[in-house]
Amino acid sequence: MLDLRWARQYKNKRTLFCQCASDARKRQAEEGETKVLPQIAKVTEEQEIFRTALEGTVDRVSPVARAQELDNAKRFDSELHAALGELGIMGLGVPEELGGAGGGAVEQVLALEVLGRKATSMAVFIVVHFMITRLLRDYGSQAQQREHLVPLAQGQKAASFCLTEAGGGTDILAAMKTKARPEGNGWVLDGNKMWISGASTSDIMVVLARTGEHRSRGLSMFLVPTEAKGVAATELSTFAINGYDTNALTLEGVRVPAGAILGVQDQGFPQVVATLNGERMNAAAVAIGIGRGAIEVTRDYALEREAFGKPIGQFQAVQTQLSTAGISVESAWMMTLEAARRDEAGEATDVLSSMAKWWSARAAVQCTDTGMEIFAGAGFDTSLPIQRYYRDARLYSFAPLNQNMALNMVAERWLGFPRGF
Ligand SMILES: Cc1cc2nc3c(=O)[nH]c(=O)nc-3n(C[C@H](O)[C@H](O)[C@H](O)COP(=O)(O)OP(=O)(O)OC[C@H]3O[C@@H](n4cnc5c(N)ncnc54)[C@H](O)[C@@H]3O)c2cc1C
Repeated sequence: MLDLRWARQYKNKRTLFCQCASDARKRQAEEGETKVLPQIAKVTEEQEIFRTALEGTVDRVSPVARAQELDNAKRFDSELHAALGELGIMGLGVPEELGGAGGGAVEQVLALEVLGRKATSMAVFIVVHFMITRLLRDYGSQAQQREHLVPLAQGQKAASFCLTEAGGGTDILAAMKTKARPEGNGWVLDGNKMWISGASTSDIMVVLARTGEHRSRGLSMFLVPTEAKGVAATELSTFAINGYDTNALTLEGVRVPAGAILGVQDQGFPQVVATLNGERMNAAAVAIGIGRGAIEVTRDYALEREAFGKPIGQFQAVQTQLSTAGISVESAWMMTLEAARRDEAGEATDVLSSMAKWWSARAAVQCTDTGMEIFAGAGFDTSLPIQRYYRDARLYSFAPLNQNMALNMVAERWLGFPRGF
């Protein structure tokens, strides 16, 4: 029986989705056979409509060549951002009464796989966006939800998440030097953050700062406007995810009101940790999109490029390399979808989401490395997307959780070993 849950949740968006999906199919039919790899993992018919609609929107607004131009120019894709806002993507996971589009973890990973494949920097933007909307949905006061969640869910505002510091990301509890001290009716923040996505272009930031002595129960989350006095973001020169700014952030005597605390004072770390399984699944979906995108462009190239009088795709070694990479990425996708489904069912996903994140990050590196090998010299051409996939794939090897830590989690929580660090 057809699962109509999607249609119910998206009743206002459904007509738009169906229209976009049908436009996309028409365009693909006009252009001949679609080049998209067939999906192995099954999703519901409604979710398939959603995915096709999103693919069609990205192809229309930001086709591969444009995505590549923007990446080379290190520019954020504002047009695509607006189109995704129209489609309700920014509101996925946020209930309709809070200005969102409904949907859950499965719809989020479906959207992120498509974006990872077609517009990776935007996918990374949305991973951060979903983290913030989830924090606001779960911990925000009504006033905070009205002020921040509603415009975020409608794509009218952008937000950054500020946890990492120069002293370390994995062991942030030891590294964290940013402090907030009470003053008058509010707080004053001082410190530095490192590698913060979007801090130069966002409207609002969620900043983790020390408010107490206890190692893990002495941090709080603060909602800080990027234009607040004392906030300065400096864009860093990075080699990947070029369509989304990465920054060093300084907070010097930044005053915020008491109502700027998001969630419970001193409980910021456990509150963030509770959202990390979702972030891991979302990162996994982007990595899978990157891997699948790399396979698609490499398959097309291998069918055209000739050596020794025939297309290189006729050499069994080339076919085997791509098949192996494809199996990796598809199995990672099945694990990620299963993690998302369990998350929606309210089940614990710490082990499965760590497995999915590890496997997808590895598959993305394998697929993009294979792609670069098969493109050979052409892989260095910056007008072609394979080098972008190859660079972008690196991010999710260490973020939001490095590969060793994902394995630590599996060893501890699944195999039952004592903590190894
Ligand atoms: C483009 C980009 C965007 C980012 N965006 C954000 C953002 O928006 N907000 C934010 O807060 N942060 C962001 N980050 C930071 C990112 O989350 C961190 O880089 C990540 O958490 C890893 O921290 P680190 O780089 O300090 O690595 P470290 O903590 O120094 O770790 C280095 C390596 O040491 C090894 N290692 C560490 N601990 C262990 C252990 N216990 N067992 C085994 N091996 C271990 C691993 O191999 C690890 O990769 C971003 C980074 C980049 C590059």
